[in-house]
Amino acid sequence: MNMCALRASWRRWRRWLALLPAAASPLAAHGEVVVRPFGATSDGTPVQSFELRSAGGLTVRLSALGAALIGVDAPDRSGKVADVAFGFDDAAGYESDANQYFGVTTGRYANRIAGGRFVLDGETYQLALNNAPNHLHGGGPRALSKVTWQAKTFEKPQQRGVKFSYVSPDGEENYPGTLQIEVTYALNDANELRIDYAARTDRPTIVNLTNHAYFNLAGAGSPTINDHVLTLHADRYTPVDDTLIPTGELASVAGTPLDFRQPTRIGDRVDQLTATPAKGYDHNFVINRDAGAGVVRAAELYDPQSGRVLTVFTDQPGVQFYGGNFLNGQAGKNGKVYAYRSGCCLETQHYPDSPNKPDWPSVVLRPGQTYAHVCTYAFSVR
Ligand code: BGC
Repeated sequence: MNMCALRASWRRWRRWLALLPAAASPLAAHGEVVVRPFGATSDGTPVQSFELRSAGGLTVRLSALGAALIGVDAPDRSGKVADVAFGFDDAAGYESDANQYFGVTTGRYANRIAGGRFVLDGETYQLALNNAPNHLHGGGPRALSKVTWQAKTFEKPQQRGVKFSYVSPDGEENYPGTLQIEVTYALNDANELRIDYAARTDRPTIVNLTNHAYFNLAGAGSPTINDHVLTLHADRYTPVDDTLIPTGELASVAGTPLDFRQPTRIGDRVDQLTATPAKGYDHNFVINRDAGAGVVRAAELYDPQSGRVLTVFTDQPGVQFYGGNFLNGQAGKNGKVYAYRSGCCLETQHYPDSPNKPDWPSVVLRPGQTYAHVCTYAFSVR
């Protein structure tokens, strides 16, 4: 056997061995994608998980159910590793009521649409009111977060990943058009996890996808994110009404608890928002961007105690900073408990309710066009 054939056969063995329980996985070297069973959905569909390791010491886990980010083992400044992303031990956890969109791909329209209604080319569409009186994160049982995606792993020099694909039929969750969607996660050796979204349609439709990962950089299950320091590269945000639908105004953050232009401890001002409809931080920020600029730095989250830093880059117009105000102490993976405000999401996306805001960046996708979105979660220490 020549070297190439030997290597290929060893890889095949290694993949097979990786299907054994997790304890057998010191075999998962960086550079290779390890595939494991992750239970099954309630209709009996088997679900797989995927583990990516970087030479920089980061391990990322993904699931085909919801094309989800289910774990991120990140070293702290002394090299000690903790899983900083929320999730569950298996597919059943993701299907349970405890799942508040942990790490999943949300859509077809992430965030809210007022009254679940929009008009496109003169036709009115009514979507599920799953967050009454509004539509949230793509709706009911066939929202993108709840379906099992096809998965294809890939390995390239200094990069490895998984491409998830799903064809959402015309009319699924009442959205028009057959939507062909790809969500590609790629982890490089600089500990950057890049998510690329792409979608095409056969009829005019609306699209807004995002990832709904919750992070606590001290380790998921730590009691609070109050001590994390956040920077948001946003001079403006979209104020909302009592049901969290934007009023249409782009308001300045100056002089409000939403001013994160300088690094600021999350806990310093959050209680000023507790009595508001958002119940804390749950706001869409307008990312500062020079004309023509594509991917820019949108946010930085820093945990002074562990030294872990998460930097978010995107080409999207907005980022929803959601501070976990609805977390309720549910049980997550590895016996951890997710308490009120113990995790936060930085969801890169179009502004909420854009289909009803004609002056805002368009979320309409027509046949022949490609929806594209880049979000990079870069992990480092300081
Ligand atoms: C929204 C919150 C919502 C949460 C659900 C976030 O993206 O902004 O209002 O409660 O998702 O987990």
